[in-house]
Amino acid sequence: MDKAQRAFLERFLGTISPSGFETEAAAVWLEEARFADRTWVDLHGNAFAALNERGSPRVMLAGHMDEIGLMVSHVTDGGYLHVRPIGGWDAQVLPGQRVWVRTKKGRVLGVVGRKPVHLLDDEAKRTVVKIEDLWIDIGAGSKADALRQVEIGDPVVLAQGPERLGDDLLLARGVDDRIGAFVALEALRLLKKLKPKAAVFAVATVQEEIGIRGARTSAYGLDPTVGIAIDVCHTTDTPGTEGEKKKLGEISLGKGPVLARGPNINPKLFDLLVDTAKKGKIPYQIEAAPGATGTDANAMQLNRAGMATALVSIPNRYMHSPCEVVSLRDVANAAKLIAQAVARLDGTTDLVPGERGMAPRKAARRAKT
Ligand SMILES: [Zn+2]
Repeated sequence: MDKAQRAFLERFLGTISPSGFETEAAAVWLEEARFADRTWVDLHGNAFAALNERGSPRVMLAGHMDEIGLMVSHVTDGGYLHVRPIGGWDAQVLPGQRVWVRTKKGRVLGVVGRKPVHLLDDEAKRTVVKIEDLWIDIGAGSKADALRQVEIGDPVVLAQGPERLGDDLLLARGVDDRIGAFVALEALRLLKKLKPKAAVFAVATVQEEIGIRGARTSAYGLDPTVGIAIDVCHTTDTPGTEGEKKKLGEISLGKGPVLARGPNINPKLFDLLVDTAKKGKIPYQIEAAPGATGTDANAMQLNRAGMATALVSIPNRYMHSPCEVVSLRDVANAAKLIAQAVARLDGTTDLVPGERGMAPRKAARRAKT
Protein backbone atom coordinates (compact mmCIF):
# COMPACT_ATOMS: atom_id res chain seq x y z
CA MET A 1 0.00 0.00 0.00
CA ASP A 2 1.57 3.31 -1.02
CA LYS A 3 1.59 6.56 0.94
CA ALA A 4 -1.37 8.11 -0.90
CA GLN A 5 -3.56 5.05 -0.34
CA ARG A 6 -2.66 4.95 3.34
CA ALA A 7 -3.45 8.64 3.68
CA PHE A 8 -6.87 8.08 2.07
CA LEU A 9 -7.54 5.13 4.38
CA GLU A 10 -6.62 7.13 7.48
CA ARG A 11 -8.73 10.09 6.35
CA PHE A 12 -11.65 7.75 5.68
CA LEU A 13 -11.29 6.07 9.10
CA GLY A 14 -11.06 9.47 10.76
CA THR A 15 -14.58 10.46 9.70
CA ILE A 16 -17.63 10.10 11.92
CA SER A 17 -20.12 7.83 10.17
CA PRO A 18 -22.55 5.81 12.30
CA SER A 19 -25.47 4.22 10.45
CA GLY A 20 -27.73 6.92 9.05
CA PHE A 21 -25.00 9.57 9.33
CA GLU A 22 -22.51 8.43 6.67
CA THR A 23 -22.17 11.72 4.75
CA GLU A 24 -18.68 12.57 6.09
CA ALA A 25 -17.35 9.16 5.07
CA ALA A 26 -19.15 9.34 1.72
CA ALA A 27 -17.55 12.71 0.92
CA VAL A 28 -14.02 11.38 1.51
CA TRP A 29 -14.71 8.18 -0.45
CA LEU A 30 -16.24 10.06 -3.41
CA GLU A 31 -13.39 12.54 -3.56
CA GLU A 32 -10.97 9.62 -3.79
CA ALA A 33 -13.20 7.95 -6.43
CA ARG A 34 -12.63 10.73 -8.96
CA PHE A 35 -10.57 8.31 -11.09
CA ALA A 36 -13.83 6.44 -11.89
CA ASP A 37 -15.91 7.14 -15.01
CA ARG A 38 -18.80 8.40 -12.90
CA THR A 39 -19.69 8.80 -9.23
CA TRP A 40 -23.01 9.49 -7.54
CA VAL A 41 -25.02 9.11 -4.35
CA ASP A 42 -28.54 7.62 -4.19
CA LEU A 43 -31.49 8.69 -2.07
CA HIS A 44 -30.55 6.29 0.71
CA GLY A 45 -27.02 7.73 0.90
CA ASN A 46 -25.14 4.86 -0.78
CA ALA A 47 -22.09 6.14 -2.71
CA PHE A 48 -21.23 4.71 -6.14
CA ALA A 49 -18.20 4.74 -8.44
CA ALA A 50 -18.57 3.20 -11.91
CA LEU A 51 -16.13 1.86 -14.47
CA ASN A 52 -16.95 0.74 -18.02
CA GLU A 53 -20.70 1.07 -17.46
CA ARG A 54 -21.67 -0.45 -20.82
CA GLY A 55 -19.70 -3.65 -20.11
CA SER A 56 -21.04 -7.08 -19.23
CA PRO A 57 -21.70 -8.63 -16.78
CA ARG A 58 -22.65 -5.94 -14.28
CA VAL A 59 -20.57 -6.39 -11.13
CA MET A 60 -21.16 -4.79 -7.73
CA LEU A 61 -18.32 -4.52 -5.21
CA ALA A 62 -19.78 -3.48 -1.88
CA GLY A 63 -18.37 -2.51 1.51
CA HIS A 64 -20.46 -0.77 4.12
CA MET A 65 -19.16 2.60 5.24
CA ASP A 66 -21.31 2.94 8.36
CA GLU A 67 -19.96 2.18 11.82
CA ILE A 68 -21.64 1.48 15.15
CA GLY A 69 -22.28 4.52 17.31
CA LEU A 70 -24.56 6.08 19.89
CA MET A 71 -27.36 8.62 19.64
CA VAL A 72 -28.31 11.38 22.08
CA SER A 73 -31.78 10.47 23.38
CA HIS A 74 -32.22 12.65 26.48
CA VAL A 75 -30.58 15.57 28.29
CA THR A 76 -30.83 15.69 32.09
CA ASP A 77 -31.52 18.84 34.10
CA GLY A 78 -27.84 18.84 35.01
CA GLY A 79 -26.81 18.84 31.34
CA TYR A 80 -25.74 15.20 31.03
CA LEU A 81 -26.62 13.26 27.86
CA HIS A 82 -28.26 9.86 27.79
CA VAL A 83 -27.73 7.80 24.67
CA ARG A 84 -29.13 4.83 22.78
CA PRO A 85 -26.98 2.45 20.74
CA ILE A 86 -26.72 2.55 16.94
CA GLY A 87 -25.81 -1.07 16.18
CA GLY A 88 -24.43 -3.81 18.41
CA TRP A 89 -22.26 -2.62 21.31
CA ASP A 90 -20.46 -4.44 24.07
CA ALA A 91 -21.26 -1.76 26.67
CA GLN A 92 -18.21 -2.87 28.71
CA VAL A 93 -15.92 -0.94 26.37
CA LEU A 94 -17.73 2.38 26.86
CA PRO A 95 -17.11 3.68 30.43
CA GLY A 96 -14.24 6.13 30.65
CA GLN A 97 -14.00 6.67 26.89
CA ARG A 98 -13.77 10.06 25.23
CA VAL A 99 -16.47 10.61 22.62
CA TRP A 100 -17.33 13.03 19.87
CA VAL A 101 -20.88 14.18 19.43
CA ARG A 102 -21.38 15.14 15.80
CA THR A 103 -23.57 18.22 15.76
CA LYS A 104 -24.66 20.48 12.93
CA LYS A 105 -22.00 22.95 14.12
CA GLY A 106 -19.16 20.43 14.43
CA ARG A 107 -17.68 17.97 16.92
CA VAL A 108 -18.34 18.33 20.64
CA LEU A 109 -16.01 16.41 22.95
CA GLY A 110 -17.48 14.41 25.79
CA VAL A 111 -16.67 11.57 28.15
CA VAL A 112 -18.70 8.48 29.02
CA GLY A 113 -19.30 8.73 32.75
CA ARG A 114 -19.82 6.02 35.34
CA LYS A 115 -19.58 5.99 39.13
CA PRO A 116 -15.93 5.62 40.24
CA VAL A 117 -14.98 2.14 41.41
CA HIS A 118 -14.78 3.36 45.04
CA LEU A 119 -18.47 4.13 45.05
CA LEU A 120 -19.66 0.89 43.44
CA ASP A 121 -21.10 -1.73 45.76
CA ASP A 122 -19.99 -5.35 45.35
CA GLU A 123 -23.06 -6.20 43.31
CA ALA A 124 -22.43 -3.33 40.86
CA LYS A 125 -18.77 -4.32 40.48
CA ARG A 126 -19.82 -7.79 39.35
CA THR A 127 -22.66 -6.67 37.10
CA VAL A 128 -22.32 -6.04 33.41
CA VAL A 129 -22.69 -2.36 32.51
CA LYS A 130 -25.78 -1.34 30.58
CA ILE A 131 -25.78 1.55 28.12
CA GLU A 132 -28.82 3.09 29.84
CA ASP A 133 -26.85 3.34 33.09
CA LEU A 134 -24.10 5.42 31.46
CA TRP A 135 -24.14 9.09 30.57
CA ILE A 136 -22.09 11.51 28.51
CA ASP A 137 -20.59 14.56 30.17
CA ILE A 138 -19.84 17.37 27.72
CA GLY A 139 -18.97 19.83 30.46
CA ALA A 140 -22.32 21.61 30.23
CA GLY A 141 -23.55 23.44 33.34
CA SER A 142 -27.25 22.87 32.72
CA LYS A 143 -29.79 21.38 30.38
CA ALA A 144 -30.07 24.68 28.49
CA ASP A 145 -26.30 24.91 28.18
CA ALA A 146 -26.11 21.33 26.84
CA LEU A 147 -28.92 21.96 24.36
CA ARG A 148 -27.08 25.01 23.05
CA GLN A 149 -24.33 22.59 21.96
CA VAL A 150 -26.09 19.36 21.02
CA GLU A 151 -29.54 18.28 19.83
CA ILE A 152 -31.63 15.18 20.48
CA GLY A 153 -30.76 12.68 17.72
CA ASP A 154 -27.14 13.79 17.30
CA PRO A 155 -24.83 10.79 16.64
CA VAL A 156 -21.90 9.96 18.91
CA VAL A 157 -18.72 7.95 18.28
CA LEU A 158 -15.72 7.11 20.41
CA ALA A 159 -13.00 9.73 19.96
CA GLN A 160 -10.37 7.44 18.48
CA GLY A 161 -8.44 8.00 15.28
CA PRO A 162 -6.46 5.44 13.29
CA GLU A 163 -2.94 4.44 14.38
CA ARG A 164 -0.31 1.96 13.23
CA LEU A 165 0.39 -1.07 15.40
CA GLY A 166 3.60 -2.98 14.82
CA ASP A 167 4.88 -3.19 11.25
CA ASP A 168 1.82 -4.26 9.34
CA LEU A 169 -1.23 -3.64 11.53
CA LEU A 170 -3.70 -0.81 11.60
CA LEU A 171 -5.70 0.08 14.69
CA ALA A 172 -8.89 2.17 14.51
CA ARG A 173 -12.53 2.33 15.44
CA GLY A 174 -15.01 1.62 12.65
CA VAL A 175 -12.61 -0.54 10.65
CA ASP A 176 -15.84 -2.57 10.42
CA ASP A 177 -16.50 -1.83 7.72
CA ARG A 178 -14.92 1.22 6.21
CA ILE A 179 -12.06 -1.14 5.40
CA GLY A 180 -14.52 -2.97 3.12
CA ALA A 181 -15.60 0.22 1.37
CA PHE A 182 -11.90 1.07 1.01
CA VAL A 183 -11.14 -2.33 -0.56
CA ALA A 184 -14.07 -1.98 -2.98
CA LEU A 185 -12.65 1.31 -4.25
CA GLU A 186 -9.04 0.05 -4.33
CA ALA A 187 -10.18 -2.99 -6.36
CA LEU A 188 -11.90 -0.59 -8.78
CA ARG A 189 -8.70 1.45 -9.02
CA LEU A 190 -6.71 -1.69 -9.90
CA LEU A 191 -9.40 -2.74 -12.39
CA LYS A 192 -9.07 0.52 -14.26
CA LYS A 193 -5.61 -0.62 -15.31
CA LEU A 194 -6.79 -4.17 -16.07
CA LYS A 195 -9.41 -2.89 -18.59
CA PRO A 196 -12.29 -5.16 -17.53
CA LYS A 197 -14.97 -6.39 -19.93
CA ALA A 198 -17.44 -6.18 -17.07
CA ALA A 199 -19.20 -3.02 -15.94
CA VAL A 200 -17.91 -2.59 -12.40
CA PHE A 201 -19.55 -0.56 -9.64
CA ALA A 202 -17.82 0.03 -6.32
CA VAL A 203 -20.42 0.87 -3.68
CA ALA A 204 -19.90 2.28 -0.19
CA THR A 205 -23.18 1.10 1.31
CA VAL A 206 -25.04 2.61 4.27
CA GLN A 207 -26.79 1.22 7.35
CA GLU A 208 -25.41 -2.33 7.43
CA GLU A 209 -24.97 -2.27 11.19
CA ILE A 210 -28.67 -1.76 11.83
CA GLY A 211 -29.97 -4.57 9.60
CA ILE A 212 -28.19 -4.69 6.21
CA ARG A 213 -30.19 -1.91 4.62
CA GLY A 214 -28.06 0.05 2.10
CA ALA A 215 -26.99 -3.06 0.19
CA ARG A 216 -30.66 -3.74 -0.53
CA THR A 217 -31.43 -0.39 -2.09
CA SER A 218 -28.12 -0.02 -3.92
CA ALA A 219 -28.31 -3.53 -5.41
CA TYR A 220 -31.86 -2.95 -6.55
CA GLY A 221 -30.84 0.28 -8.25
CA LEU A 222 -27.79 -1.22 -9.98
CA ASP A 223 -29.38 -4.56 -10.95
CA PRO A 224 -26.08 -6.45 -11.24
CA THR A 225 -25.72 -10.20 -11.87
CA VAL A 226 -22.45 -10.57 -9.94
CA GLY A 227 -21.63 -9.11 -6.53
CA ILE A 228 -18.78 -9.29 -4.09
CA ALA A 229 -19.32 -8.01 -0.56
CA ILE A 230 -16.26 -7.05 1.43
CA ASP A 231 -16.58 -7.10 5.21
CA VAL A 232 -14.53 -8.02 8.27
CA CYS A 233 -14.55 -11.37 10.08
CA HIS A 234 -13.39 -12.57 13.50
CA THR A 235 -9.95 -14.06 13.99
CA THR A 236 -9.16 -17.05 16.19
CA ASP A 237 -5.56 -16.02 16.85
CA THR A 238 -6.00 -14.29 20.23
CA PRO A 239 -6.06 -15.76 23.74
CA GLY A 240 -9.39 -17.33 24.59
CA THR A 241 -10.47 -18.04 21.02
CA GLU A 242 -9.26 -21.65 21.03
CA GLY A 243 -12.83 -22.89 21.48
CA GLU A 244 -14.13 -20.67 18.67
CA LYS A 245 -12.06 -22.57 16.13
CA LYS A 246 -14.68 -25.32 16.08
CA LYS A 247 -17.07 -22.83 14.54
CA LEU A 248 -14.93 -20.17 12.89
CA GLY A 249 -11.96 -22.25 11.77
CA GLU A 250 -8.37 -21.07 11.95
CA ILE A 251 -8.37 -17.43 10.93
CA SER A 252 -5.33 -15.23 11.57
CA LEU A 253 -4.29 -11.68 10.79
CA GLY A 254 -1.81 -11.46 7.93
CA LYS A 255 -2.60 -14.82 6.35
CA GLY A 256 -4.75 -13.37 3.59
CA PRO A 257 -8.34 -12.33 2.92
CA VAL A 258 -11.00 -14.85 3.97
CA LEU A 259 -13.27 -16.39 1.34
CA ALA A 260 -16.64 -17.54 2.66
CA ARG A 261 -18.12 -20.77 1.36
CA GLY A 262 -21.77 -21.79 1.76
CA PRO A 263 -25.32 -21.14 0.54
CA ASN A 264 -24.86 -17.36 0.53
CA ILE A 265 -22.00 -17.77 -1.94
CA ASN A 266 -22.24 -18.68 -5.60
CA PRO A 267 -20.07 -21.83 -5.94
CA LYS A 268 -18.62 -20.86 -9.31
CA LEU A 269 -17.72 -17.37 -8.12
CA PHE A 270 -16.06 -18.95 -5.07
CA ASP A 271 -14.05 -21.28 -7.35
CA LEU A 272 -13.06 -18.33 -9.53
CA LEU A 273 -11.73 -16.44 -6.48
CA VAL A 274 -9.77 -19.48 -5.24
CA ASP A 275 -8.35 -20.15 -8.70
CA THR A 276 -7.39 -16.49 -9.10
CA ALA A 277 -5.67 -16.51 -5.69
CA LYS A 278 -3.71 -19.63 -6.61
CA LYS A 279 -2.66 -18.32 -10.03
CA GLY A 280 -1.71 -14.93 -8.61
CA LYS A 281 0.02 -16.45 -5.54
CA ILE A 282 -2.24 -14.36 -3.29
CA PRO A 283 -2.65 -15.86 0.21
CA TYR A 284 -6.22 -16.63 1.28
CA GLN A 285 -8.14 -18.37 4.05
CA ILE A 286 -11.52 -20.11 3.88
CA GLU A 287 -14.42 -19.86 6.33
CA ALA A 288 -17.50 -22.06 6.45
CA ALA A 289 -20.73 -20.04 6.26
CA PRO A 290 -23.51 -22.63 6.47
CA GLY A 291 -26.37 -20.13 6.29
CA ALA A 292 -27.12 -16.54 5.41
CA THR A 293 -24.11 -14.38 6.30
CA GLY A 294 -24.76 -11.31 8.44
CA THR A 295 -23.28 -9.13 5.73
CA ASP A 296 -24.24 -7.14 2.65
CA ALA A 297 -23.73 -10.39 0.67
CA ASN A 298 -27.05 -11.63 2.04
CA ALA A 299 -29.12 -8.72 0.75
CA MET A 300 -27.19 -8.77 -2.53
CA GLN A 301 -27.83 -12.46 -3.21
CA LEU A 302 -31.57 -11.95 -2.66
CA ASN A 303 -31.77 -8.89 -4.91
CA ARG A 304 -34.50 -9.05 -7.59
CA ALA A 305 -34.16 -12.49 -9.31
CA GLY A 306 -30.86 -13.18 -7.53
CA MET A 307 -27.21 -12.28 -7.84
CA ALA A 308 -24.13 -14.52 -7.93
CA THR A 309 -22.47 -13.34 -4.73
CA ALA A 310 -19.21 -13.87 -2.90
CA LEU A 311 -17.96 -12.61 0.45
CA VAL A 312 -14.36 -11.56 0.92
CA SER A 313 -13.53 -10.74 4.53
CA ILE A 314 -10.63 -8.96 6.18
CA PRO A 315 -9.64 -10.72 9.42
CA ASN A 316 -10.34 -8.28 12.27
CA ARG A 317 -9.38 -8.52 15.95
CA TYR A 318 -11.56 -6.84 18.61
CA MET A 319 -14.57 -6.20 16.37
CA HIS A 320 -17.04 -3.54 17.58
CA SER A 321 -14.51 -2.12 20.03
CA PRO A 322 -12.70 1.23 19.79
CA CYS A 323 -9.54 -0.65 18.79
CA GLU A 324 -10.29 -2.90 15.84
CA VAL A 325 -7.09 -4.31 14.33
CA VAL A 326 -6.46 -5.47 10.75
CA SER A 327 -3.40 -6.31 8.67
CA LEU A 328 -2.60 -3.88 5.85
CA ARG A 329 -1.20 -6.81 3.88
CA ASP A 330 -4.58 -8.57 4.06
CA VAL A 331 -6.28 -5.36 2.94
CA ALA A 332 -4.00 -4.96 -0.10
CA ASN A 333 -4.31 -8.66 -0.98
CA ALA A 334 -8.11 -8.49 -0.82
CA ALA A 335 -8.20 -5.62 -3.34
CA LYS A 336 -5.72 -7.43 -5.61
CA LEU A 337 -7.64 -10.70 -5.50
CA ILE A 338 -11.01 -9.08 -6.22
CA ALA A 339 -9.62 -7.01 -9.10
CA GLN A 340 -7.91 -9.98 -10.74
CA ALA A 341 -11.00 -12.20 -10.38
CA VAL A 342 -13.37 -9.56 -11.78
CA ALA A 343 -11.00 -8.97 -14.71
CA ARG A 344 -11.65 -12.59 -15.74
CA LEU A 345 -15.41 -12.09 -16.10
CA ASP A 346 -16.98 -11.34 -19.46
CA GLY A 347 -20.39 -11.54 -21.13
CA THR A 348 -20.05 -15.31 -21.66
CA THR A 349 -19.19 -16.18 -18.04
CA ASP A 350 -21.75 -18.68 -16.75
CA LEU A 351 -22.30 -18.55 -13.01
CA VAL A 352 -25.49 -20.63 -12.91
CA PRO A 353 -24.76 -23.37 -10.37
CA GLY A 354 -24.42 -26.83 -11.85
CA GLU A 355 -23.04 -28.20 -15.09
CA ARG A 356 -21.11 -25.65 -17.03
CA GLY A 357 -22.69 -23.73 -19.88
CA MET A 358 -26.16 -25.08 -19.24
CA ALA A 359 -29.32 -23.16 -18.50
CA PRO A 360 -31.27 -24.70 -15.59
CA ARG A 361 -34.19 -25.89 -17.76
CA LYS A 362 -31.90 -27.63 -20.24
CA ALA A 363 -29.97 -29.28 -17.40
CA ALA A 364 -33.19 -30.58 -15.85
CA ARG A 365 -34.36 -32.05 -19.16
CA ARG A 366 -31.06 -33.78 -19.61
CA ALA A 367 -31.15 -35.13 -16.05
CA LYS A 368 -34.47 -36.87 -16.85
CA THR A 369 -33.17 -38.81 -19.85
ZN1 LIG B 1 -20.19 -4.68 12.34
